[in-house]
Amino acid sequence: MKPRKRIILLGASGSIGKSALDVIRAERDSLELVAASVHQNETVAAALRDEFGLKALCVSGPSRPMDGATYRGAEGLIGMIRETEADIVLNAVPGAAGIDPSMAAAESGKDLALANKESMVCAGRLLKEALASSGARLFPVDSEHSALSILLERMGKENVEELILTASGGPFRDCPLEDIAEADLSAALAHPTWSMGRKITVDSATMANKGLEVMEAIELFGFSVDSIKVLIHPESKVHSLVRCRDGSLYAQISRPDMRLPIHNALFWPEIRKASSGALDLRGESLSFREPEAARYPVLSTAYEAARLAAAYPIAFNAANEEAVAMFLDGGIAFTGIAEIVEETLGGDFSREPRDMETVHAEDGRARASARAFGRKREKR
Ligand code: NDP
Ligand code: MG
Repeated sequence: MKPRKRIILLGASGSIGKSALDVIRAERDSLELVAASVHQNETVAAALRDEFGLKALCVSGPSRPMDGATYRGAEGLIGMIRETEADIVLNAVPGAAGIDPSMAAAESGKDLALANKESMVCAGRLLKEALASSGARLFPVDSEHSALSILLERMGKENVEELILTASGGPFRDCPLEDIAEADLSAALAHPTWSMGRKITVDSATMANKGLEVMEAIELFGFSVDSIKVLIHPESKVHSLVRCRDGSLYAQISRPDMRLPIHNALFWPEIRKASSGALDLRGESLSFREPEAARYPVLSTAYEAARLAAAYPIAFNAANEEAVAMFLDGGIAFTGIAEIVEETLGGDFSREPRDMETVHAEDGRARASARAFGRKREKR
């Protein structure tokens, strides 16, 4: 019998983390959870330690020492990734906090199943260099990129001219534009098709998420920004498409369930029976439309950041993270997110991020600037 694939799961108590645990439980003969991290959810941490008999466990957030946690804090997280024997690291930490863990996995020669899109957006080149020198591989977990990697492999990258990322359009895709300015937190968190963490759910409403995914696709697949398109597809069944030289489109179609891309990342290149079930197309209708610029100004700003490249993608991500945190905190209006991101990108981020110090420095500079713009718009 083949030895089980040993997995380190980062962000085990989150939305992706829970889906990953489902996949691991359904495939106990092939997959073994050897280590996990949470930020502060010690209840989940304790339950996982008992259920899986973990060799290592990290509580990465600022909580009091936990019984049985072998690693603590952000540095402990890096230590756990480097020191625990494993085949693959599934990184489902949200935001820029996920970048160093991805680098640690790559540098220590462990394959990387990457849900944390920010790693590719902010440090794509450095991460690819680290993977190349250690010989580790990267498998995207983001559903669109999982779909694209399978499609590109099957169709042959040289035959593909255009990548089309689909987007649900979020909760405000159909409401009158003037209502968006008044949108409150509960409206922004009411995602029509996907159940996800709060930050990425707000990013779906603004389409900052799709903007990050365009940048992620540029880094992952080496396509130019102008060959990557976005279409709103409210049903969230077609996860992405490629257009080949002959004009034909090929799509990956399945239920909106993150367990499938996680399963595919953990078993790549094998296509095997998945526990998340199959989609029955009978009775389904699939529709597509262009995202309106006035409804999703953050998407246009993301394309601009992708064109400018250098540290602009880092600044886009950092400014958006800060602005979304302010919105989630009740400090600014929903439309303030787009304004803060655009204002921040008015700064100079033309420095090439050639090392991790520069990545962090540019991230910090963009955050400070976004917070300053945010204070000017504070509601209270
Ligand atoms: P959640 O907010 O649901 O979960 C985040 C997880 O990471 C939790 O386990 C949390 O621990 C932990 N965590 C939070 N902050 C930190 C930190 N600063 N350092 C280390 N760990 C931390 O997020 P999601 O699962 O929705 O998203 C995770 C990543 O996956 C994001 O990058 C997102 O863009 C990406 N992604 C998510 C998708 C989805 O469907 N949700 C789809 C595609 C990509 P605790 O619970 O203890 O706070
Ligand atoms: Mg996605």
